[in-house]
Formats: sequence, C-alpha cells, structure tokens
Amino acid sequence: MALFVHKYGGTSMGSIERIKNVAKRVAKWHDAGYQIVVVPSAMSGETNRLLGMANEIMPRPDPRELDMLASTGEQVSVALLSIALHALGKDAVSYAGWQVAIKTDSAYTKARIQSIDDAKVRRDLDAGKIVIITGFQGVDDEGNIATLGRGGSDTSAVAVAVAMKAQECLIYTDVDGVYTTDPRVVTEARRLKTVTFEEMLEMASLGSKVLQIRSVEFAGNYRMPTRVLSSLTDPMIPLEEEAASGTLISFEEDTNMEQAAITGIAFNRDEAKITVLGVPDKPGIAYQILGPVADANVEVDMIIQNQSVDGKTDFTFTVPRGEFAKSMDVLNKTAKENLNAVSINGDAKVSKVSVVGVGMRSHVGIASKMFRTLSEEGINILMISTSEIKISVLIDEKYMELAVRALHKAFDLEKA
Ligand code: ASP
Ligand code: MG
Repeated sequence: MALFVHKYGGTSMGSIERIKNVAKRVAKWHDAGYQIVVVPSAMSGETNRLLGMANEIMPRPDPRELDMLASTGEQVSVALLSIALHALGKDAVSYAGWQVAIKTDSAYTKARIQSIDDAKVRRDLDAGKIVIITGFQGVDDEGNIATLGRGGSDTSAVAVAVAMKAQECLIYTDVDGVYTTDPRVVTEARRLKTVTFEEMLEMASLGSKVLQIRSVEFAGNYRMPTRVLSSLTDPMIPLEEEAASGTLISFEEDTNMEQAAITGIAFNRDEAKITVLGVPDKPGIAYQILGPVADANVEVDMIIQNQSVDGKTDFTFTVPRGEFAKSMDVLNKTAKENLNAVSINGDAKVSKVSVVGVGMRSHVGIASKMFRTLSEEGINILMISTSEIKISVLIDEKYMELAVRALHKAFDLEKA
C-alpha cells in the first residue's frame, strides 16, 4: 500500500479551524486507501512565543533548555491534530520525536538526525492508523530532546519519508509552490511544475525560503521525491488534482532533456561587502584575513583576490549584512594590526542576484546575456561568482528589484 508523508507548516496549523481542515485533508487521503504519516510544525507564532519567554529571563539561555521549551510547540500540534482526526471518526495516534524514536546528535538548537526507528510507526500503519509525529525534534543518546533549527520540521518530514520509504513527501504550506522568482517582486513570476533538487538547493541557499535547506539536501541525498503545495485550498478538492498540484522537487535524469536555460532568479537583499586593501601578497594571506572571520562564525560567501601590484594585493568578500559590524570589528583588529593593511572598507548596502538552472550545462551564452541585460539597465556589477548551475552578481541594493525584473523578462521566465 502506498505511503505518503504530509508535512503541515505553522500557518496551516495556525488555528483550531485550520487544524480541523488539515484533519479533513488527511482523512481524505486515508479514505482513498493510502497510509499516511503526518509531520506538523507548531502553530504559527508559537515557537517565537516560547523562545521569547526564555529570552525575557536571560540573554543567552542554555541551548538544552531552549530545546526542551521549543519542542513543546510541536507536541501541542500533534495532539490537537490527532484529536481532530478522532472527531472525524479516524483512528490516529500522535508521537513526540523521542517516542518514535528519532535519534539526533546533541548539537542543541541545530541538531542533525542520525536515525529513525520505523518499527512502531509501521505497526500502527499496518493496524490502519494515521500516525502523527512531531516535526523539528528528536532525542540524543542521553535521552535529551534536541531540535533541528528553525524551520526544521521540513527536514523531519523528509527524513521520516526516507525512513518509511514513502512514495512522496508532501510539504503543505502557505504558498502553492516554488516560483521562478518571488512574486512580490515580479508579478509575472510563474509557478514551476518541477524543479531539480540541485536548483532548489541553490535557490534555498540564495534566499528563497520555501523549505529549510537541510530538508532539500536530505531529499537529494536519499532521492526522496518531495512536493511543495498549498494547504490553503479546499481540503475536499479531488485527491488526483491535489496530488498533481504544487511543485515537485525531482531529479535531473527524470526531467525531460529539453530544459530551459534558466529555471529561476534568486536574490538576497541583505548582503555586505568588505574590502581589505594593500596587504602583502604572500602564502597564507587569505587564511590570515578570512580565518578570524570564520572563527567569529561568520559565513563568507563571494571572494575576490586582486592581481598583486608591487607585492601588495586586495581582498574583497561578502558576508550576511547582519554580520557586517562584527566582521569589520574582527578585521580591524586582525588585518590592521597583524597584516598592516592599508585600509579596510565596507559597504552594507549591496544585494546578490543569481540566475539558476541545470539547463546552463547545455546552453552557452547565459553569462553574457545576464551581463548584457544588467548593462542595458545601467546596473553596475560589483562582484561575480559562478557554479555549474548558477551565476551570481553583487550589485547596489537599490537596483536589486530592477535587476530581478529585467532578468526575469530577458530569460522569458514568465512564459511556460
Ligand atoms: N516550529 C519550528 C519553527 O518555528 C519548526 C518549524 O516550524 O519547522 O522554527
Ligand atoms: Mg517552515
């Protein structure tokens, strides 16, 4: 019997009314003869509320206790959903992560799943029950509750789907799929029927926050077909229609060869650029500049080292805007003092825009088309970086939306 995992986000679980709708939808699938495991998030706003209370007590509460606290949000959700299913006459049972058990490491607030025991869930499903498992949490070797990081229920759902060998993992959310770009920026943005997991990984890491990035990695590593679809439709729409809706994250070999060159445009508004000028060009210099930044837990993204002149060179790199001040502090201490850098300059008003698509592998001229489009709009490119399926440019923040719109049009993304 085919098994599906359904994941419902915080908005989908946001009120008793919505939980009742989720129950109706789940019951519809079960009535159609499928085995169903549901992995819900906490009700919207709940995780923030819980963590907020801890932060009222002290600035940096102990991570273990934070996980103990935050994990309760999902425990409420699973019980309420189970009760809502009972009210519809369905046999359902809810479990917290430790009851399954979902085993994790002990990196509290950012734990990783190590294994999932499928025995109990399998037994319940075979007995005709709908099984509901808390998202976001597991248990470490010592029996402590550990959470997977914000947005972690997506990862829980895909991991459960992998462990249960589900036919598909359905991620029900408040958007109806993955778009060519953010529809708030480009009104002509189009929903994609499929996207490869590699493209999804690039888009997620570039700021399209539909799914927690780790869930996409999981789906890719274990080849779990994962679909993003709306939970806000009428729960009683025909199952066939629902099962084919949204966006399927698929695998490159499974999609047809006639790929468009570009699949989507991703952007990240909140970038910052730092330039270290006039450091000696010698072995170890990149490490001496970027090492202390990494030690301060800042993720460096694009990096350029200039051609050296008279034995001196310059470094430019980007960091998330929220880490800009901290990074400048670190560099002013280390690069200034140890390396005698001539100056350290920063610009915290830059944004990154990227074109993404596996079709790039078989199409030429994507980069030149991108650069021409930007030049026609008079947009100056500050930095460029590329991967096999992505070209990113760093530009002045005030041109970001213009760039996204122009590129969306240039690559005909509004056309199916
Ligand atoms: N409730 C958790 C959060 O708000 C996990 C999730 O929603 O995926 O981050
Ligand atoms: Mg989410």
